[in-house]
Amino acid sequence: MLGSVMFKKRQLLLRFTMTEGSNIEKAAYSLGGALSDFTAVSPQISEKLFQILKKKFVSDVSARIDTPTMGAFVPFLRKALETNPYMFLYLKFYAKCLILSCDSKAELTPVLKKFLCKEVSERNLGGIIALADAEQTAGWLGEIILEDFEYRRNRTKNQLERVIFGANGLEKYTPAQRMFILTKESGSGLAGSFTVSLTSEHNFERNANLGTIKAALLESDDALLEEYELNTPDDLIALEMFRTVAEELPVKKCRCCGELFVPMGRSDSEYCSRISLGEDKRCAQIGAMKTFKGKHAEDPIYVEYNRAYKRNHSRLRNGKLYDEEFRSWSVAARKARDEFINNGKTVEEFKLKLKELEVEG
Ligand SMILES: [Zn+2]
Repeated sequence: MLGSVMFKKRQLLLRFTMTEGSNIEKAAYSLGGALSDFTAVSPQISEKLFQILKKKFVSDVSARIDTPTMGAFVPFLRKALETNPYMFLYLKFYAKCLILSCDSKAELTPVLKKFLCKEVSERNLGGIIALADAEQTAGWLGEIILEDFEYRRNRTKNQLERVIFGANGLEKYTPAQRMFILTKESGSGLAGSFTVSLTSEHNFERNANLGTIKAALLESDDALLEEYELNTPDDLIALEMFRTVAEELPVKKCRCCGELFVPMGRSDSEYCSRISLGEDKRCAQIGAMKTFKGKHAEDPIYVEYNRAYKRNHSRLRNGKLYDEEFRSWSVAARKARDEFINNGKTVEEFKLKLKELEVEG
């Protein structure tokens, strides 16, 4: 079992253990946010994270620090847990397989078969697995598990788009009906059956006695929740997709990066709050700048600012201004521009302000 999941209002609560036999832990994510973040993970990022695990494993094995254990990976896994539950489950599974490849090789194939999608499993686990040295084994395992991550990520992204936007002839149906139709498609991964138990939101020790439980409940207003066992990543995908649809959460396509997201604050927001690969600003920040520009491009203050910017930029190019002078001028001028526009001041007032800011050369 990978762990279990509970849903509370617009939250997804993942329950899991870091290492076998350790305490049950819990992490919370925004419902729909976790799933859309999973579909938006760029292959460069997932590859990088898998590489870090692999390197750690290979160096631990070659340094002969006993037999590697899950404990060694826990600090890294905790970081992954903070970002996304799907990424976490995959990295934790990779770590588990690396350890099995050292001390219980026979278990490796059945464990992989249970976790991986049928399609990926058939492509990779057909023949006899010949494990070589730590580096090769880790490389091979990493490739297969990463292939599975990409496979499920793309499948889920496609499904989510069909459920939310009704693509591929599903326009006529409601999102819930669309999802039901998808569960009937073979290989959708959405047709799972679940083991559910009733549980308290409270993290009780497994062997907590009734007296302790009663006392603890008196001190809290924790809810009684349904807890679903997770045996493969598909279970979490299907459950989160279903809950997202059932709660009618607004899943949108970001107008900047094109990825899916669930707005956290204002539901009319058009941009996600992620930082795309190669950018240093969040889509929401880039979007706000674009919107501002689009709205005010005709504003005389905006025109005046652009004129002053061009003039000072050419002074910079001609060596009449130092870099630092130009930079601080442009920061101040931009700030004044936005303030003057937002406060409805006149272009004459703005011109005076520009004169004040002008760097004597
Ligand atoms: Zn975005």
